[in-house]
Amino acid sequence: MGAKEFKAELEQVYGKYKSNFPRLKRELNRLLKEGEESQDIYQLGAVNYYFALMSYYKGVRSRVFSYAFKAATMLEQTSDYDLLARSYNMLGIAYFAEENYQLAIAAYNRAYQITREHKGCSLLTDVVRNNTAECYQQMGDYRKSIKMFSACLSNTLRKRAEDHEAVAIYGINLAACYEGAGEYDKAEETLAVAENVIHDGVPKMVVSGFYARRACVAYKQDDTETGNRYADLTIESVKDYEDTYELHRDFEQIAHAQIKIGEYDRADRFGNVLLAYYRKSGHVLDRIIAYRVQADYFNTINNTAVALKYYRRLNSLYEKRLMEEKAMQLSIQNRIEATERELQHMMKKIKLSEENAEREPLTGLLNRTALVKTANDFIERAKDGDKKIGGIFIDIDYFKEYNDTYGHARGDEAIRAVAAACRKLESASVKFARYGGDEFFAIIFGRRDAEVNKIAADICAAVRAANILHEKNPNGRRVTLSVGVVNASMADGDSTILDIVNYADKALYQAKRFGRDMICAYDAHGASDEHAAFQTIKF
Ligand code: GH3
Ligand code: MG
Repeated sequence: MGAKEFKAELEQVYGKYKSNFPRLKRELNRLLKEGEESQDIYQLGAVNYYFALMSYYKGVRSRVFSYAFKAATMLEQTSDYDLLARSYNMLGIAYFAEENYQLAIAAYNRAYQITREHKGCSLLTDVVRNNTAECYQQMGDYRKSIKMFSACLSNTLRKRAEDHEAVAIYGINLAACYEGAGEYDKAEETLAVAENVIHDGVPKMVVSGFYARRACVAYKQDDTETGNRYADLTIESVKDYEDTYELHRDFEQIAHAQIKIGEYDRADRFGNVLLAYYRKSGHVLDRIIAYRVQADYFNTINNTAVALKYYRRLNSLYEKRLMEEKAMQLSIQNRIEATERELQHMMKKIKLSEENAEREPLTGLLNRTALVKTANDFIERAKDGDKKIGGIFIDIDYFKEYNDTYGHARGDEAIRAVAAACRKLESASVKFARYGGDEFFAIIFGRRDAEVNKIAADICAAVRAANILHEKNPNGRRVTLSVGVVNASMADGDSTILDIVNYADKALYQAKRFGRDMICAYDAHGASDEHAAFQTIKF
C-alpha cells in the first residue's frame, strides 16, 4: 500500500471511531502491527501520531509525549510534512502539559518551520503560534507573547473571521498578557473583540474563560461593579463542570481581588469551588492554589490562627511540589531515553531488513537490483568529480563440469568460496554483486587502473590459494576464474552501467577465449569497439 492510501485509511479509521476509544485503540494497534511486520517507517510514524491524538483527547497526558516523540522522529525520515508538523505540535502540547516550556517552544518552532516551508499542511500556523505564545506567557515574557497572540488574532480576523472559537481564544489569551504587563486598557479593548463573537458557537469552557478574564481586568481597574458582575457569571457558567483545571489560576486571581476589596461572600464561593476541585483531583498544584486563597481570606478577616495553619501547610506543599518537579524532570528524561532506545532498535531492524532485501541469499553479495542502484550512485558521483568507474566481471571456469562431477551442493559451496574472496575486498568504493549463476560483478568508484587490476588479481590469487579441487579443469585441476576488467572515465557524461558491464564482458570473453584462468583488461580509451585493445593481468 502506498503512503497516500495508508494515510487515507488511517484518517477514515480515526474519523469513524474517534468517539469510541476502545475500538479506536484496537484498530490502531492492528495498523501498528502491520507496520511492524512490514517494517514500514511511514506507517509506524503515522499510527503513532494518531495514538498521540487519541491520548490527548482521552486526557492521558503522559502517553501523548512518547507517542508524539516517536511519530515526529519517524516521520522525519519521510516526506509527509503535514503529519510531521502535526506530530511536532502534539509534542509541544505534551511538553507544555509537563510545564517544560523551553522544550515545548523548540517543538512548536519545528512545527512552525515545517508548515511555512511546505504547502498543504493542514496545521494552521496561527495554532502553532498561539501554542508558542502560551509558553512565553507562562514564562512571563509578555512582550513576546503579546506580539504572537496579536498576530494570531489579526490574522484570524482577516482570513477566518467566521472561526469564532479561534477569535475568542486568541482574544482572551492576548488580554491576559496585556493584563500581566499592566496594560489594562488594552486588555479591555481586546476583550471587547472577543465579546463580539463569544455567544456564537463558541464552546462553553471558552465562554467561562472570557468571563473570568473580564472580571480580573475589571478588578484591576478598580471597577468593582463590572468585576462582580463577571465574577458571578463565571461561577454560574462552571456550575455543571466536574473540573475546569485551566481556569484554577483565574479563579484564584478573582478571589484574591475580592478579598482585597472586602467582597468576602463572593471570595468564599470561589474559595469553596477551588477546595472542591482540589479534593476531586488530589493534585498538589490545585491544593496550593486552594490553600493560598484560604490563607489570604483568613488573614484578611483577622483570623490569624487559621491563616497560620494554612500558611504552614502551604510551606510543606511547596517543598513537596519542588520534589515533584524534580521527579517529573527525571521521568521526562527517562522517557526520552527509553523512547530513543526503542527507536534506535527499530531503525536498526529496518536498516537490516533493507540491507537483506539488497543481498542475494546464497552469497550475501548484492543482488542485480542493488548493483544497478549502487552503480548509478557511483556513476553520478564520478561524473560530478571527474572520477573513473571500474567494473570487474568474474566467471568460474568449467563450472558446469564441477556441478556434474561433485554435485550441486558442492557447487554451491564453491560459489560461496568465490563470494567470500570477493567480500574480503569490499569497501565503501568497491561493491560486489552476484550477477547470475557462476558470475560475479564488482563496481568500483574512483580508483586508478592499477588499483582496479590489483583487486581482480587479488580475487584470482585468493581462489587459487583456496585450492578447491576440480579434476575436470585442465588449468591446474582446481577451481579457477576468468576475469574481465575495465576502468572507464565518466568524462563524456553519458556512460551508463550497461556500458561498464559491456566492456567488462568483452574483456571476460577474451579471457575465456585465450584459455581461461586469466584476467583481461579492456582498454576503454585506446581503440574503437571493434578493434578494442586488451591486456592480460598477472596474478
Ligand atoms: P565457462 O568456463 O565457459 O564459464 O563454462 P561454465 O560451465 O562455467 O559455464 P556455463 O554457463 O555453461 O555453466 C554455468 C553453470 O553454473 C550452469 C549451472 O548449472 C550452474 N549454476 C548456476 N547457478 C548455480 C547455483 O546457484 N548453484 C550451483 N551449484 N550451480 C549453479
Ligand atoms: Mg562459468
